[in-house]
Amino acid sequence: MRSIQNILSVALCIGLASVAGEIPASAQTAPQEFTHEADVVVIGAGPAGLCATLTASQGGAKVILLEKNAFPGGTGLFGEGIFAAESSMQIREAYFLTKDEAFRREMSEDNWRGNAPLLRAFINESNTTFDWLEQQGVVFEKVAALSPGGFRSWHLIAGHHGEELIRTLYFKAKADPKVTILLETPGKELIFDQDHHVAGVLAQGKNGETLRIRAKAVIIATGGFGDNLQQVAKYAGDAQGGMLTPLGKMGFGIRMAESAGAVTEGMGTLQFFPLGSIRAKIEDTNTLPLPIGAVAGQPFNIFVNTHGERFTDEMLSFDFSKLGNAISRQYGKTAWSIFDRSLLDRYTNKGPEAGVGVLVPALSPIPPLTQWVEDQVKAGNPDYVSADSVQELAEKMHVPAAQLKSTLEQFNHFVDTNYDADFLKERKYLHKMEGKLYAVRFVNYYLNTLGGARVNAHLQPLNAQDDPIPHLYVTGNDVGGLYGDTYPLGLSGGTYGFAVNSGRMAANHALLQIGIAAAPTK
Ligand SMILES: Cc1cc2nc3c(=O)[nH]c(=O)nc-3n(C[C@H](O)[C@H](O)[C@H](O)COP(=O)(O)OP(=O)(O)OC[C@H]3O[C@@H](n4cnc5c(N)ncnc54)[C@H](O)[C@@H]3O)c2cc1C
Repeated sequence: MRSIQNILSVALCIGLASVAGEIPASAQTAPQEFTHEADVVVIGAGPAGLCATLTASQGGAKVILLEKNAFPGGTGLFGEGIFAAESSMQIREAYFLTKDEAFRREMSEDNWRGNAPLLRAFINESNTTFDWLEQQGVVFEKVAALSPGGFRSWHLIAGHHGEELIRTLYFKAKADPKVTILLETPGKELIFDQDHHVAGVLAQGKNGETLRIRAKAVIIATGGFGDNLQQVAKYAGDAQGGMLTPLGKMGFGIRMAESAGAVTEGMGTLQFFPLGSIRAKIEDTNTLPLPIGAVAGQPFNIFVNTHGERFTDEMLSFDFSKLGNAISRQYGKTAWSIFDRSLLDRYTNKGPEAGVGVLVPALSPIPPLTQWVEDQVKAGNPDYVSADSVQELAEKMHVPAAQLKSTLEQFNHFVDTNYDADFLKERKYLHKMEGKLYAVRFVNYYLNTLGGARVNAHLQPLNAQDDPIPHLYVTGNDVGGLYGDTYPLGLSGGTYGFAVNSGRMAANHALLQIGIAAAPTK
């Protein structure tokens, strides 16, 4: 199990090893007020931004890529796999998911609330993008489904997953003479000409200097606003858990698009990822002990709210996105997961039933797990409690004891009768809670925000009249409205897949718009 600290230190190495090239001086003919010049400026060096950069440069454009952190990758360092349909890998493995099937099912599950032309364009491009990534040197190890019943569309990146994709694309871009990468250089504002057309980007250089970069097209790829807790509270309500992997994403990209007249949509939609509280541990040791958090989201457990009432079929453990929805309906947007000692031993010796992507594989033993949980209890972490009686457990959880007793009695009765009359949990997950009991508090973390600029199928942001804003593109997690109100796990690898595809699609369209030959798509 790699820790968040490990990932970040590798990322930092990538960043520090790369003294970004000198910024190209602007051409003599450039207006006085511009300090630099490029055909395309890309803001954000995550998967969307790196794919946009390489696509634009391979199509003949001179590109400046701005990244606010000292290292590239953003949340893309943590992702594991990308969506594609009709990919060469699926065909090799005789798994025939058609683009039509993926599109039809997603739009139907979404009740047609999402951006259909955009989803269609993304799915249609996905196998070409998969091939293109392989041509760039990205290696994929297998294709899997992220959750039971989901499509086998999650193309897992070999080795250290997202980190490998970022490393490969970043070094490829760094070696490209048409690309200049500026780390620690946040894009701050768009620059407009006298007709209020986008004409470039104002950025802050690593020594505090102001860069005014002229560009024919600007591609925004800043990854959403997940670390802007005020904005998240405004759109999605209070008491969310915050980003699972905080990276300082404050929503500047979306704000820049708005300054050009773009409207936003879906701002309250979060890519939920509920886990047992692990925040204290992160602060203490800078590690991300996902297996401890994972004990909460298990279908054998029972989930109760702060009133001590059960509120869902715990099989939602297999769909973290929908589980997040169910938890966010509870008072305080939080809940507890209860299990007994025999279940804890089972997760330790046989592995958890529901995994966490490929980071915590299902049904794979975690020998130290019981000890880790006991350590949290002994250390007095208020989010990890254990007791020999329901009364004592309720007191430690600060939930009404009479209600919790009644909830557990009722549930154990369902086990006896082999029928969950409340929420219809499958019989094989009906487990009688007895003996020593544990409770772990859920926190509704999210992987990302899913709201942002409303765009057309070319990734051009739209104004209030739904007209595209020229010279500007918005990609990846800065785009809103791709899905309805819930991230669909069935479309395994959807957000990473969208990031890499939208980056390529935006750059290809920009090349056409600015009169440079279109990049080859194969
Ligand atoms: C633990 C974890 C696992 C995941 N697994 C998967 C998975 O397997 N499949 C999947 O589909 N999705 C997965 N995701 C989600 C996926 O990683 C993201 O959807 C994807 O990285 C989004 O890419 P992006 O390029 O839009 O944004 P990011 O990857 O966040 O990149 C944005 C970049 O922009 C930079 N930036 C921000 N503001 C500025 C600014 N003003 N100027 C310059 N640069 C700026 C940021 O520092 C960052 O480097 C996972 C997420 C997490 C946290």
